[in-house]
Amino acid sequence: MPELPEVETIRRQLDEVLVGKMIKKITVLKDKSFCGDEKSLVDCKIERVGRKAKILEIFFSGNSQMLIVHLKMTGQLVYVDGKKRIAGGHPTADWVSNLPRKHTRVIIDFSDGGKLFFNDMRSFGWMKIVEKVKYESEIRNSAPDVTDKEFTLKYFSNLIIKTNKVIKQLLMDQEMIGGVGNIYANDALYLAKVMPNRKTNSLSRKEIKKIYDSIKMVINKGIKYGGASAANYVDTKGMGGTYQNYFLVYKKDGKKCFKCGEQISKIKLGGRGTYFCPICQK
Ligand SMILES: [Zn+2]
Repeated sequence: MPELPEVETIRRQLDEVLVGKMIKKITVLKDKSFCGDEKSLVDCKIERVGRKAKILEIFFSGNSQMLIVHLKMTGQLVYVDGKKRIAGGHPTADWVSNLPRKHTRVIIDFSDGGKLFFNDMRSFGWMKIVEKVKYESEIRNSAPDVTDKEFTLKYFSNLIIKTNKVIKQLLMDQEMIGGVGNIYANDALYLAKVMPNRKTNSLSRKEIKKIYDSIKMVINKGIKYGGASAANYVDTKGMGGTYQNYFLVYKKDGKKCFKCGEQISKIKLGGRGTYFCPICQK
């Protein structure tokens, strides 16, 4: 599943190529993948591409509507024109194949000949046309994203104090904090030297501060390396992230801890693979 750094990476790349482009036609190949009247966006000009947590936001000049995209488990976006190809999201061979293919759900044609393909193998992802005003008021009430300035140490400490949850599950609870998925939750707790199954009410002030700093650190590192693309069978030609080369504990079970040499352990927590060093993390 694409995590926040992967979504931020594709956002930056799309923002570079899509701004100023005019939509010529939208072809919906699977109804479930697109919500709204696709014809209403014909002739709309893209103003910018934004992001809130893992939702990509496409804004149009002088338009009260916007298009939002969630890639969910297996969604991917591939932009193609005569000179360029940009791919992001779930990594499969479709990043480099001729499109459309079997899993193409929506095609957006631009007036200059460029095309944006939304592919989604399992079809949990979506594109939705929404009213900008309504969307923005909903966003204001949602949890801050870890990269938002509203995500302060004070906000984080208050969350911990008022909930009594397992720390790793709190970090991944999108209703509390936007954008921390499994990879980054595991690595942040390793950096903070805190066991993933600790209850939040057992954490000291010092540990809370360390977890907060570690989340920021791993997410920023993820964005710096363009996120992670775990499927290395794809000939990505330089596309795709490299954060997988910098994983600290995620998927490192049986390997040696960088700090102490002990073997990294794996357990299941809330159904998700959880990795930690039994010596370094308390
Ligand atoms: Zn260790």
